[in-house]
Amino acid sequence: MKKLFWITLFLFLIQTGSANPLDDLPVEPEMAVVVERILAMTGLHNDVRVVVDYEATGCAYATTRDGRQYIGVNPDCVGPLRIEGRYSWRVLGALTHEVAHLLGGHTTNATNSHREETEADEWSGWAMYRLGATLDEALTAARTYSVSGSRTHPPRAVRLESVERGWRRAAAEVEPIKGTSPKPNAWAAFLNSPLPWATED
Ligand SMILES: [Zn+2]
Repeated sequence: MKKLFWITLFLFLIQTGSANPLDDLPVEPEMAVVVERILAMTGLHNDVRVVVDYEATGCAYATTRDGRQYIGVNPDCVGPLRIEGRYSWRVLGALTHEVAHLLGGHTTNATNSHREETEADEWSGWAMYRLGATLDEALTAARTYSVSGSRTHPPRAVRLESVERGWRRAAAEVEPIKGTSPKPNAWAAFLNSPLPWATED
């Protein structure tokens, strides 16, 4: 009887398993909110599914499958999302980089991966400035990248430069309107505001 139960459960799982294996990975709800808030800066609404993927190589990836956008994150690699009550700059660096791949169309129209990585690094720097990161904080994730790079990724020094270029571009853009505030604090406050479900009664 017990055996029958397990066989039935097994068959049930096979039938309900989705065609896209990424849909079987657990969603990371807090990172999903963070990604939504990063995207809010762009004025775009993208339906990005943020999943925990312990198999992810390179800590995180962005991909589009069957028209659906995904960001996969390996928490063992990027570390915890929160450190002492604040979002980790390393995780934010990884997420902004992956968001850039999705926004840049790199997951659907891949051409030159080094150029795409540079674009994503630069946008990450731009977004990190807007989220309140100092230059040093914005570079946190890039400091962990491979020194020599690879066929698909530029060497670390190039990537650090790209992040810095984006960060400086953002700093220059807001210069005329920033007034007395050295950072666009509104976006940082929005990013760190209570999670939607925390404000529910
Ligand atoms: Zn990348």
